[in-house]
Amino acid sequence: QAMNSDSASRLASDVRSGDRAALARAITLIESRRADHQAQARELVQALLPLTGKAVRVGITGSPGVGKSTTVDALGMALIAKGHKVAVLAVDPSSARTGGSILGDKTRMALLSAEDNAFIRPSPSSGTLGGVAAKTREAMLLCEAAGFDVVLVETVGIGQSETAVCDMTDFFLALMLPGAGDELQGIKKGLVELADMIAVNKADGDNLKRAKAAAAEYNAALHILAPRSEHWFPPVLTYSALTGDGINALWEKILAHRTAMIASGDFETRRRHQQVKWMWTILEDRLHARLRSDPAIRAKVKQTEAAVANGRMTPAVAAETISALLD
Ligand code: GDP
Repeated sequence: QAMNSDSASRLASDVRSGDRAALARAITLIESRRADHQAQARELVQALLPLTGKAVRVGITGSPGVGKSTTVDALGMALIAKGHKVAVLAVDPSSARTGGSILGDKTRMALLSAEDNAFIRPSPSSGTLGGVAAKTREAMLLCEAAGFDVVLVETVGIGQSETAVCDMTDFFLALMLPGAGDELQGIKKGLVELADMIAVNKADGDNLKRAKAAAAEYNAALHILAPRSEHWFPPVLTYSALTGDGINALWEKILAHRTAMIASGDFETRRRHQQVKWMWTILEDRLHARLRSDPAIRAKVKQTEAAVANGRMTPAVAAETISALLD
């Protein structure tokens, strides 16, 4: 049901007070497609904006099975023990197709989900990747307003969703499996350009030697490529989410990176670029939504598309024709 401005401002103050149920409701409002909800959501985020931006924002990627949820559970628990409040969000490109997210699911983080100082939310499950990611970014802002000072954003090792998560976080962590050689193909050029650290998980028991060997290879591979920042060279660590060995070292590197980035000014620059980039992401998504939702425009777009497909119209003329419809 529609919210009046009274209940909207109550929701804002409930989020501000750290009420997790209110936070969950506010995120549901953000994810709603209803135009009135979207208007309320925009107001809500705008109202809470002054309280945002303080969290350590960490993106975590890795193939299915690498140990993302085990890592988030272990890292999250270690952070709570240090006095942090930890929010876990996810960008799951498959959720748009299946309607359900495999990431950020509470059942996958057994310890963290029982903590009062944790908030876990699966990926929004509708819209384009750009739309899903934009909603996750706004959810992150709400979590910050609710007092969560660490936000972990999970995604799977798929190019575009990794870029989207990298664009909303301060630090991008790529998780890898032990076993050199074959595994090194995981070190796709694109990912290396994004990663602020590579961490080889499952460095325990029989895996230990293979994990160290993999780390050495990743390290060698990183040295061949030009680093993204002149103030930070991505370290390669080994750890075990299962035993907790090396989990604290991951966090120490994240903080060391933060200190270096703030000192050099790169932190401010990265956040500023991200803000502007997100404006464009949201704008592009809205334009796409208009092209799809207005029946008259949709019909004209289909015709124009057909004309391009059979060579009667150039793509440039078609693009011009379609953009004229949006005036
Ligand atoms: P995700 O798909 O990336 O979220 O991976 P999961 O966290 O679900 O882990 C996949 C499997 O690897 C599970 O069976 C975990 O128990 C196991 N696993 C995760 N971390 C470790 C680790 O540090 N050591 C070992 N030996 N197994 C692990």
